[in-house]
Amino acid sequence: MERLLDALPNLEPGWVWLTGAGPGEAGLLTLLAVKGLSQADVVVYDALVDRAILDLARPGAKLEYAGKRGGKPSAKQPDISLRLVQLAREGRRVLRLKGGDPFVFGRGGEEAMSLVEAGVPFRIVPGISAGIGGLAYAGIPVTHREVNSAVAFVTGHDATGEVPDAVDWASLAKGAPVIVLYMALKHIALIAGRLMAAGRGGDEPVAIVSKATTAEQLVVETTLGRCAEEAARSGIEPPAMVVVGQVVRLRAALDWMGAIGGRALSADPLGTRHRGRTGS
Ligand code: SAH
Repeated sequence: MERLLDALPNLEPGWVWLTGAGPGEAGLLTLLAVKGLSQADVVVYDALVDRAILDLARPGAKLEYAGKRGGKPSAKQPDISLRLVQLAREGRRVLRLKGGDPFVFGRGGEEAMSLVEAGVPFRIVPGISAGIGGLAYAGIPVTHREVNSAVAFVTGHDATGEVPDAVDWASLAKGAPVIVLYMALKHIALIAGRLMAAGRGGDEPVAIVSKATTAEQLVVETTLGRCAEEAARSGIEPPAMVVVGQVVRLRAALDWMGAIGGRALSADPLGTRHRGRTGS
């Protein structure tokens, strides 16, 4: 393990590593993220980065919070970029740590562009995105051969906190068999309504996965027609993913976390076995 880390590039003074911390569980960090944590002078982190992960930083490293909460319009974004440039120019080793993957609804591109503009050298360290790895912890694969050949990753609110008009919800409803929504809990009623208005069935399976991969992970299985009501009734909290589509049914077989806790898994979640559709 030591040798593996040694063989990786070093976080050099004056550099910024724009790094994904994954959805929560520290075991889902990449080796590059671990190396960056072990070498950083300053870790600039977001609200979604778990405390247990920050605890892995080199003793003496400065931890700087740069988060924003609850989809509030972020006047702070230019400040964060400026801060990264400033720290790098002071000759610090800077680890910019973001939840999930830095390039998935994470403004990683914007921050990287500021670094380019300022001539600050940087590296991008991808992370496991909540929309893939987080759902895997709920036993939901984002693709499954018998179910879907496409998946759409969508944000449930835009920079102003509203449901994004830039998303063509009707086309999405028609074109994407599985829709994985980030930041959608607040507007779940509106979004479900738009998808149903465009023809998606009210009985279509939906899962809401809150605090995925952490000790507080909570999953609500529901339907498109009932998801808004169930979200409110259950009191499920952000950060949460909302996934719409038949892949949710696979959870009956693939909820491996539940199985660790004693849940009995079904070997035939789609009910296809008796029809002899075993594939090749
Ligand atoms: N870059 C991140 C996404 C940032 S947007 C990534 O790739 O995962 C923030 C949204 O991500 C949250 O509103 C929520 O929808 C989702 N999210 C992040 N971490 C999550 C977690 N542990 N469980 C559920 N959803 C999460």
